[in-house]
Amino acid sequence: MAARTGAEYLDGLRHRSAEIWLGDERIEDVTTHPALRGCAQSMAHLYDMQHDPALRDEMTYASPTTGDRVGLSFITPRTQKDLERRSRMMFHWSRFSGGMLGRSSDYINVEIMAAAAAAEFYNRNDPRFGENARRYYDYARENDLCMTHTLVNPQSNRALTASGHPSADIALRIVDENEDGMVVRGARILATLGPLADEIMVFPSTVLKAAADTKTFAFAFTIPCNTPGMKLICREALAYGESRVDHPLGSRFEEMDTIVVFDDVLVPWDRVFLKSDPDLCSQHFPETGCLAHMAQQVAIKNICKSEFVLGIACSVAEALGSTEFQHVQEKIAECMINLELMKACLRAAEADAQIDKWGVMCPDRVPLDAARNIFPKMYPRMVEILQLLSASSLMMIPPDSALDSPIAQDIDRYMVAANRDARERIKLFRLAWDVACSAFAGRQVLYERFFFGDPVRMMSVLYRTYDKQPLMDRVSAFLARDD
Ligand SMILES: Cc1cc2nc3c(=O)[nH]c(=O)nc-3n(C[C@H](O)[C@H](O)[C@H](O)COP(=O)(O)OP(=O)(O)OC[C@H]3O[C@@H](n4cnc5c(N)ncnc54)[C@H](O)[C@@H]3O)c2cc1C
Repeated sequence: MAARTGAEYLDGLRHRSAEIWLGDERIEDVTTHPALRGCAQSMAHLYDMQHDPALRDEMTYASPTTGDRVGLSFITPRTQKDLERRSRMMFHWSRFSGGMLGRSSDYINVEIMAAAAAAEFYNRNDPRFGENARRYYDYARENDLCMTHTLVNPQSNRALTASGHPSADIALRIVDENEDGMVVRGARILATLGPLADEIMVFPSTVLKAAADTKTFAFAFTIPCNTPGMKLICREALAYGESRVDHPLGSRFEEMDTIVVFDDVLVPWDRVFLKSDPDLCSQHFPETGCLAHMAQQVAIKNICKSEFVLGIACSVAEALGSTEFQHVQEKIAECMINLELMKACLRAAEADAQIDKWGVMCPDRVPLDAARNIFPKMYPRMVEILQLLSASSLMMIPPDSALDSPIAQDIDRYMVAANRDARERIKLFRLAWDVACSAFAGRQVLYERFFFGDPVRMMSVLYRTYDKQPLMDRVSAFLARDD
């Protein structure tokens, strides 16, 4: 199969019937369930973009094995041009949701590409595992899989986790092995997009202490979401009805977060990438280059999200006639600076990209580290700016149904804004509300703060990996100068 259409993607979801729970309900068909169908349709739209005649060449490339057109986010970049092509493709997908669909499948496609390129890394653990990574990449690319990943064990006792020892009865662990594979039990948080994905990469992230009792927690594997024994438990749905006016973002881009439970799940050997090696697991993300490729997708999402919020902020100020107030200009300028900084980080990462030790053209990690560490602070501030610019306009928004009711005349009369009629104003501010106030908005802020990891420890990694010595040497040289 080549790049999938939206209909093929939805058909795949319909036929795989994973065990998905929302409250006390087991969801039978995610493509029709009110909590998930809006996002399923948005995801399908992304797949359809691969077949849009105007976009096809920018969204797909010729498969290295079949020559068929496959999704461009799967490409193994060998040149800067490849990276730029991939970037353009990612921009097309991300702009469709204003960056609100963080888990479009390009996020994981680049991870699996980098894993395959770094097959030798997995061979250090077991000579079969590198081949597994290569084979899985071919399989994912040729079938245009939609994947998510889950990296973190549940929060039960972080004091224990901090010492590199997950909670023995809760964290996901290997409980048995046989000739078919390894058996795993326990839970992982979170898998965003889990109900709308075909497969999950269950990979390591938290640092494990190299000790005999941590070996059972050390592994990396991929698994179809409908594997027997797996359950995906959803949080409350944030779609809140399907009116595109009342819930312009939630109704379209509710990508749903899930806890993943494994009740003695058999992971076939050909799906295992790492096993029982805590050291290799702890090195996985930086060593394989996965991180830099994923961070490029994240920087693109940050740009699209900043563009979107900036566009809304400008529209809000213009609608309310507040554009000439200096503090309004200052706040909007702050959003402009955020956007330009994100663009500069992406451009620097692409311009300074180099062939890595796996032969892949890898974006420079340093500017991407800057982008992913600062955006968790920028985004909540941009949301705050929308609140400060909009004030009560974020609440003065009757539901869409009021526009077709006996009070419609009142609304048309009293809800006008300086530069918008009442109906345009309601639409605009409902959008601002879904970025700044709704439950969907709150989840987006939390997502930006945490989805790439705990910001405190991310900063600590940046501190430890940053090349500080040349700067300290320069200071020493300055102190030694007497001219
Ligand atoms: C909306 C959303 C979507 C997500 N989607 C995914 C996904 O799809 N896949 C996935 O794998 N993960 C996902 N995550 C999870 C994300 O990876 C984690 O939230 C993140 O790694 C932090 O882990 P935690 O939530 O368990 O918080 P904790 O690690 O428990 O942190 C909670 C608090 O305790 C502090 N703390 C805990 N341990 C330490 C320590 N050792 N040293 C210093 N401070 C510490 C932290 O600084 C923080 O203030 C998602 C998270 C959110 C919020």
